[in-house]
Amino acid sequence: MRDVHICEVGPRDGLQNAKHLMPTEAKKRWITALAAAGLEEIEVGSFVPPKLIPAMADTAEIVTHARTIAGLKVVALAPNVKGFERARGAGAHKITFPVSASRKHSESNVRMTPEQMVEQVRQCAALRGKDGPEIEGAVSTAFGCTLQGAVPEADVLRLAVALAEFCDGVALADTVGYANPAQVKRLFSLVRKEIGSKLEGAHFHNTRGLGLANALAAYEEGVRAFDASMGGLGGCPFAPGASGNVITEDLVFMFEAMGLKTGIDLQKLFAARKLLEQAIPEEPIYGHTPLAGLPKGFRAAA
Ligand SMILES: [Zn+2]
Repeated sequence: MRDVHICEVGPRDGLQNAKHLMPTEAKKRWITALAAAGLEEIEVGSFVPPKLIPAMADTAEIVTHARTIAGLKVVALAPNVKGFERARGAGAHKITFPVSASRKHSESNVRMTPEQMVEQVRQCAALRGKDGPEIEGAVSTAFGCTLQGAVPEADVLRLAVALAEFCDGVALADTVGYANPAQVKRLFSLVRKEIGSKLEGAHFHNTRGLGLANALAAYEEGVRAFDASMGGLGGCPFAPGASGNVITEDLVFMFEAMGLKTGIDLQKLFAARKLLEQAIPEEPIYGHTPLAGLPKGFRAAA
């Protein structure tokens, strides 16, 4: 039994925002190594138009590969019904829809209002049938937005409640790295009061170095599912020099050091990081634990 569940989003959130393209075969080897390290859930790509994001053009092939790995939950992102159909066709076990709480971000990102986006997800939930994929609604820019600035908590709450009606799970995402731990506690607690156990995941970016602090705050608020990316891969086009998601290696170390089982083997995780470094050596990656190594006498949670 794992105490916390970590979903590796590097192949999607990381590579989608990276400056360098990772070849398809290298992606497959990396995903295999991530799963071998104990990651039971990996967001392997995004079904967006390939012209828009060339790094995600091979997502169907990557999903097919990932499905051959025993015990792995294969997650893909879809921005609309068309993306959902492609993700389902490829065989993704879980499909995540980003629904931006920031009106400006939603309109520039998916050319839909948040309400229109909720309707897209509702349609997909109706389409999936009995044995269809799991559906997650991720309320993105939930803690602030580079275009709009502050995002009212009432907007986040309204979207979370709407999504909880037909999604299997709802996540709150700090897409641009604006969140702080006090805000994380307040917002997760507010949303939890409305939708209970439907509130599952937390997705943080480490843009201002608060990724781990925010993850810990969410943990203390009862959250047990976290997105993270190896090496903090990704960055953010609006914040030069900033890393991407909360760093998987450091997040695993934090929880394991606290005695909380992640099911992930840190040495094997470092081996997977080597593959990432070899595949796109020019890309900046981050992480304190891989650079410092494990403390003398360190024991993983048992
Ligand atoms: Zn993200």
